[in-house]
Amino acid sequence: MSLNRKNWKLSTQINHPEEVSLKEGNRPLIAPVVNSAKFVISEKHSLNEQFIYGRVGNPTLRQLELTLGEIQKKDECIVVSSGIGAITGTILGLLKSGDHMITFRELYKPSRVFIRDILPNYNISSTFLSLNNLSDLEKNIIQDKTRLIYFESPSNPNLQIADIPFLISIARKHNLIIVMDGTFGGLHQHTEFDLDIIIHSLTKFANGHGDVIAGSIAGKKDIVGKIKEMVMYLGAHLDPQATYLIQRGLKTYMLRYERQTETAQKMAEYLQKQPGVTKVYYPGLEIDLNYKTTKSHMKSFGSVISFEIDSKMFSTSEEFCQRLKLIQVAVSLGSTETIICPTLAFFGLDLSEVERKEMGINSHSFRLSIGIEDFDDLKNDLHQAFRVQY
Ligand SMILES: *Cc1c(COP(=O)(O)O)cnc(C)c1O
Repeated sequence: MSLNRKNWKLSTQINHPEEVSLKEGNRPLIAPVVNSAKFVISEKHSLNEQFIYGRVGNPTLRQLELTLGEIQKKDECIVVSSGIGAITGTILGLLKSGDHMITFRELYKPSRVFIRDILPNYNISSTFLSLNNLSDLEKNIIQDKTRLIYFESPSNPNLQIADIPFLISIARKHNLIIVMDGTFGGLHQHTEFDLDIIIHSLTKFANGHGDVIAGSIAGKKDIVGKIKEMVMYLGAHLDPQATYLIQRGLKTYMLRYERQTETAQKMAEYLQKQPGVTKVYYPGLEIDLNYKTTKSHMKSFGSVISFEIDSKMFSTSEEFCQRLKLIQVAVSLGSTETIICPTLAFFGLDLSEVERKEMGINSHSFRLSIGIEDFDDLKNDLHQAFRVQY
């Protein structure tokens, strides 16, 4: 500004603070958080080369989008205000009234509810299949109507693994867009698959500290472009401060993930041997039905374990949870602290009795998300909860 600041009155000075500019090359090693909702438009550049308004684009968000695109080996990535915002924005961005999509009942509950109960209000229909029975898939594709396959792998809460190469082959054959929610596996997994779009709840492993809600959409440039337009109109952009916390959380992503996975493997093996445990779902156990597929799909087995306790020993899941001292009852996953939640109450109440039974969700089933604490302390906590009965 060339004006003489000294002549301004106080209220003007306060509202136009002096600019602090950095010498060329003297950049901050950690990128600053750009909170500004608006950017001064420069005549030196065309409008589409510049940041204009925070809802449309912001350097702090762009930094995270570039980082996430690179980790996932995708051409383009956008970040939005939640994982569920990423899912709803993707579907609304890609489908229109009259379209049909195929999905699977093994879904995160809010995704299932959105597709099953809300999309019909906009004349978008869906067919729900099971990840365990893909032989029905082609039969359910409706000519000139079905546009999209949407699935989760590993699935919430019982870690079903989808046959991803098969799903992709069917999508290509019928010219459908294929979208996967890869949240449970983390960002560095499934990067080699030719998925059109991969969605993550960044609330989980990416942020890793349980203090931000956010989501990402990565994939092919033209498809992400369509979704970007929709999420912009939905107003689902992420706040720069929240964005920064994720960028910062990501620095320890691999360290956390390796530790969580290592502890999860030991914990699954421990649970497998417990007399009070009747079933363990963890794809890293060789006896797990998904072990082989997971090994071919994923670099490691992740940090979520599901298990069932003996109903003769504990009358309710709450009774078991109340005995735990260190492990707290809470939802979410991928954070530094270990948490547990009963699966029926949180993920199964919208399902029929038959669906619950087939999916292994009941009054004695749990989802355990492993953090980065010491394995022995976690094991001892579970052990004392089980031991009361022996
Ligand atoms: C948590 C979760 C979501 C939703 O993410 P939010 O960030 O909570 O909106 C979607 N899919 C899966 C598999 C999840 O675990």
